[in-house]
Amino acid sequence: MDDILKAIDGIAERQRSAYPEAEGDYRVDGILYCGKCKTPKEKEYAIPWTGNKKILPVLCKCQKEQYQSDQENLKKTDFEMRVDRLKREGITDSKYLSCSFENDDSPKSKNSVICRRYASKFSEIEKKNIGLLLYGDVGTGKTFYAACVANYLLAKCIPASITNFPDLLSLIFKDKGAIAKLQSFSLLVIDDLGVERNSDYSMEQIYNVIDARVRSGKPMIVTTNLSAAELIHPADLAHKRIYDRIMEACPVMLKFEGNSRRGVKAYQKAAEAKKILGV
Ligand SMILES: [Zn+2]
Repeated sequence: MDDILKAIDGIAERQRSAYPEAEGDYRVDGILYCGKCKTPKEKEYAIPWTGNKKILPVLCKCQKEQYQSDQENLKKTDFEMRVDRLKREGITDSKYLSCSFENDDSPKSKNSVICRRYASKFSEIEKKNIGLLLYGDVGTGKTFYAACVANYLLAKCIPASITNFPDLLSLIFKDKGAIAKLQSFSLLVIDDLGVERNSDYSMEQIYNVIDARVRSGKPMIVTTNLSAAELIHPADLAHKRIYDRIMEACPVMLKFEGNSRRGVKAYQKAAEAKKILGV
């Protein structure tokens, strides 16, 4: 019995040194009260089987609240750190970081709505392994929306990677295991597929990346400036092998056309510059 009482005293002592009596605290009938929130910092407990009673420390209302908010901050920091780590691992070019649905200037366009739905229903998309192919002219928003989907998932701590073949080829050159590592991402976005001016070695690696992704059973999004005709009827077998695999993995093809986003931005920037410089 003495052991139990000693153990209880030890715990109480640790608690008292973690939460020492503060200025303004007061006692009523021998029980310590918090000077700030006026709730007790001690409670009388009957110790089982001993017939003893002990006054033991408890958390007052403001200490409890402080404890809860500390725990929440810890959780939040932990979550933010995991998201940061995923971003460092998955995003190979910082230009993709700023793309988010919040910055979308045409949220009602068909492609925007589809991409947002793709992101918000990703758990279902992932289970059914549905890929997206975004194709169309340069600067029509393909990269923007593909990166929006990846960033949406990353913000929820879902592993997503957004990269392109020049970055991937240099990764593979440095690390033979790079292709296998890509499969740890729930979503892989390959931006700007355009394999027309590549060496045989690069073509083989590009095929290997796509093929490994298809075999992993996990979804990918591919963006390309190639037209539907170029994708369906490529010039040679080496390209056909790659494109066939992509279209197998990405049954949903979204065509992007219209005003060049890059063009609109450049125009706005030029207008702003003229205003500042008075030209
Ligand atoms: Zn208090």
